[in-house]
Amino acid sequence: MTAAPQPLAGRTIFVTGASSGLGARFVRQFSAAGAAVVAGARRMAALQALVEEVSSGGGRACAVPVDVTDEASVMAAFDAAEAAIGPIDSLVANAGINIRGLALDMPVDDFDRIMAVNLRGAFITARVAARRLIARGDAQRGRVLLVSSIGATRIIAGSSAYCASKGGIDALGRNLAREWARHGINVNMIAPGFIRTDINAAWFDEEGGRKQLARFPRRRLLEADQLDAIAIHLLSDAASGITGSSFVIDDGQTL
Ligand code: NAD
Repeated sequence: MTAAPQPLAGRTIFVTGASSGLGARFVRQFSAAGAAVVAGARRMAALQALVEEVSSGGGRACAVPVDVTDEASVMAAFDAAEAAIGPIDSLVANAGINIRGLALDMPVDDFDRIMAVNLRGAFITARVAARRLIARGDAQRGRVLLVSSIGATRIIAGSSAYCASKGGIDALGRNLAREWARHGINVNMIAPGFIRTDINAAWFDEEGGRKQLARFPRRRLLEADQLDAIAIHLLSDAASGITGSSFVIDDGQTL
């Protein structure tokens, strides 16, 4: 039997929003690809269960509480994670929320909350990760992967703030890629189509969600496993020449 390829061997990757959905999947997949993984989110019970699962399979992982909207919380999370598992060389800024509402009606507080988690949170976590890498003189293999969305470039009904936050992610990522290129840190974005997770499950159970799904060319949601290979590649040493790029993975939903 041949061993599974380990393109992330020797890497330590911090994943935010790891308590559910895509983030929890990334933790499992990155571990299987050879990385030590830090699972960060606010719900520690879910993170602990995930870390136990990874550890019992022979992987290295730890769980840390983090609220990405709070810079002190992010710095404390990196301190705790590095004490537990060692220096972090890669970040996946995955934490995100959506609060649906038409622009004419939605409370401005909802707009602010979406921006605080999706855009400000990604800025804070990326910057904390990069500052530490640069301060350690260890940035040459640095990786930042920002989780964007097809909403960055397309309309999602009732989600103007969410789409604006993801458009912001693409602009932020390109600028961080430029600023940090000299240090060796690569910054890229993945823009998934619709995958059933906690962020949208209720919507796809409604009439409006079912109608939207029926308009996709393949009349189906995207499967989360379609993100695995590209996320792993972008975090790997093999992707040293890829930075400032955004990759759409959407099963043709935007065609
Ligand atoms: P999810 O709701 O299962 O996961 C979001 C995670 O972010 C949760 O673990 C949540 O606890 C965490 N989170 C929220 N606020 C946080 C905060 N302040 N601090 C730390 N963690 C926080 O949904 P998901 O689909 O797995 O979403 C993951 C990312 O993927 C999000 O950025 C989302 O916008 C993006 N995305 C999802 C889809 C999709 O169809 N599911 C498509 C494109 C992009």
